[in-house]
Amino acid sequence: MTNDRSTREAQPRALVIGGSMAGLFAALLLRREGWSVDIYERIGAELAGRGAGIVTHCELFDVLGRAGIDTEAAAVGVAVPGRRVLDRSGRIEGELGLRQVLTSWGHLYGLLRAAFPTDSYHHGKNLVALTEVEDRVTARFSDGSEASGDLLIGADGIFSSVRSQLAAEVRPGYAGYIAWRGLVDERELSAKTRAELCDWFGFSLPPGEQMLGYPVAGVNEEMGVGERRYNFVWYRPADADHGLADLLTDIDGFRHELSIPPIRIRPEVIASMRRDAERLLAPQFAEVVRLTRQPFIQAILDLETPRMALGPRTVILGDAAFVARPHVGMGVTKAAGDAAALADALRDHPGDLSAALEKFESVRLPFGSAVVRRARDLGAYMQAQIATAEERKMAERHRSPEAVMAETAVTTGIAA
Ligand SMILES: Cc1cc2nc3c(=O)[nH]c(=O)nc-3n(C[C@H](O)[C@H](O)[C@H](O)COP(=O)(O)OP(=O)(O)OC[C@H]3O[C@@H](n4cnc5c(N)ncnc54)[C@H](O)[C@@H]3O)c2cc1C
Repeated sequence: MTNDRSTREAQPRALVIGGSMAGLFAALLLRREGWSVDIYERIGAELAGRGAGIVTHCELFDVLGRAGIDTEAAAVGVAVPGRRVLDRSGRIEGELGLRQVLTSWGHLYGLLRAAFPTDSYHHGKNLVALTEVEDRVTARFSDGSEASGDLLIGADGIFSSVRSQLAAEVRPGYAGYIAWRGLVDERELSAKTRAELCDWFGFSLPPGEQMLGYPVAGVNEEMGVGERRYNFVWYRPADADHGLADLLTDIDGFRHELSIPPIRIRPEVIASMRRDAERLLAPQFAEVVRLTRQPFIQAILDLETPRMALGPRTVILGDAAFVARPHVGMGVTKAAGDAAALADALRDHPGDLSAALEKFESVRLPFGSAVVRRARDLGAYMQAQIATAEERKMAERHRSPEAVMAETAVTTGIAA
């Protein structure tokens, strides 16, 4: 990697670790501010979505526009007219008009990726160490190569290596419940379920649990009715010692810590979940669960960092800094906002990295904390243990069908 000093002085250089949403947003916006930017991504091939769909908010489109992305193309997705709660018998218990577009992760990633020069996006680069010495920061990768620059941006997700190097004490914490998730081709569902569920952001609310679902693009990003998939997320309490341990103990008896490859989930665990679906959920949702071939488990985690500037030349953003429970649907929008705030701070403090990072942190730390807090409040009623009076209060406040419909995956209620 060349690093000619005179070029560096003329054009500051950023190393972005992680080439997913936060990394691409940061890289595109910094390039527009005159930085030379390289992305280093651990995965050796192009990234592919996990099919969960991305809830879009106005803030996301603002940043996409700034990054030079065609926002009309970005807005392509599956639109829902609103929310609907189905009761245990399958009847509509409540409805709320709230149009939203659910775009696909793969679609958004494709647009961002295409806007960034391929020769500056380096696959198969797994950061293992970083050092800051005077006027430069150097990243070392597992293949033995190194890269140096003026600023290193850790956009490497919830289990960030950048964060673990400089703030090892900041780690995700288990929230006390898990989500069963899965996708089913909508054409496999009965006509009744397609008519009553598939166009909606739907909910079924057994006591202390929450099932939700919404339509997402098909396997090859198809958005047309009949070609889409229906995505479900079923939150269920699981205490860390017993419930979670049982769910994450695989077919060979190995106990995974926080996630388990879907094909290693024990068949009896899946069978028991399917029986519970028939017993507890609206029949339309029970059918979705029954027809999902490969359900998977996501442990719900909270991550909150007390610092985003981890060193004089190192900063973290996106999921590397804050991970809110999924109820706020903010992961991509928050990553975009972090990147925009960093680009603003660097533009407003040319040649003064320390002032820029301080400014960035002063804007985004309170916002990240507020998002995590809001999501924690919304999810309190699903925790296996409600530990504090505050959690009990939040559990009461946010569990009614009306509250769930009005508060899930919207930006209102986030007070930084
Ligand atoms: C492949 C993929 C598919 C996803 N699909 C969906 C989806 O369908 N729906 C949805 O809601 N969310 C999805 N997400 C999550 C979503 O992108 C994030 O929660 C959110 O956008 C914040 O993104 P992020 O860039 O901060 O973190 P992430 O999206 O988690 O990205 C972190 C990136 O850093 C890379 N990385 C990690 N460690 C290192 C290292 N040591 N060196 C170099 N690189 C490293 C990872 O490979 C990853 O690409 C997906 C994430 C990924 C990585």
